Amino acid sequence: MLQFKGLNKFYQTGQVSQQALNDVNEHIRAGEMIALCGPSGSGKSTLLNICGLLDLNYQGELYFDGEKLDRDPQHCMQLRRQQLGFVFQRFNLVPVMSAYENVEYPLMLNQVPSQQRKQRIMDLLDAVGMAEFAQAKPDRLSGGQQQRIAVARALIHQPRLVIADEPTASLDSHTAHQVVELMKSIGKSHNTTFVIATHDNRMSEHCDRQIELLDGQILSREVSACVA
Ligand code: ADP
Ligand code: ADP
Repeated sequence: MLQFKGLNKFYQTGQVSQQALNDVNEHIRAGEMIALCGPSGSGKSTLLNICGLLDLNYQGELYFDGEKLDRDPQHCMQLRRQQLGFVFQRFNLVPVMSAYENVEYPLMLNQVPSQQRKQRIMDLLDAVGMAEFAQAKPDRLSGGQQQRIAVARALIHQPRLVIADEPTASLDSHTAHQVVELMKSIGKSHNTTFVIATHDNRMSEHCDRQIELLDGQILSREVSACVA
């Protein structure tokens, strides 16, 4: 599904060049749920931005579904809209839109006709336990409820890959557990792949595999606890 070959990333600040990724090679299979672990500054966000086709300025190669990514911004935007979903630590719902409208947004970007949208949205809101809050604005919802809506928004267009940046960091343990399990169960039906950057040790029990970064390098591919 997703393959990195000899990935290097440098940030240039004035005269200073900072290496954020150092020869990262990895193959993530379709349907895998990956916990991307490592201490602050180890390169998690940098790698997520590359996986999410948000940062096209790196050295090395990225293969998406077996195809080498061409880095054409227009093509990457299209891939992002059609094939990718995003979940963030602070939910990032659009405040002026209802829960329903937030979930509808990716379908509108993908020009799904309106008569097909409603059933899909209501089914998914139901699956995340939020059907009765369809008309609520985000500021009426708890953190856990907002993240359920964000999960629905990330998955409504049945993306191949979901990128999540600390999705449970703002949630209590019980809610965090529910939110990850929702991602997993909804993703299963379409063999969705997840790459989840996390400091959260509790996440490890939900994921198929961990990729641990240290100083921009992959430390190990063992199934072991995350280094917080
Ligand atoms: P993490 O998400 O694991 O905390 P990051 O990917 O944010 O790690 O950062 C990896 C390294 O790259 C760090 O040394 C960080 O200081 C550096 N870095 C990240 N973003 C920038 C940037 N925009 N400009 C310069 N250096 C950056
Ligand atoms: P727009 O429709 O505003 O042009 P894009 O098509 O570029 O947005 O983005 C498609 C998806 O990528 C959106 O669902 C959005 O959530 C996500 N996205 C775009 N830019 C960023 C960013 N800087 N950080 C996180 N997610 C982003």
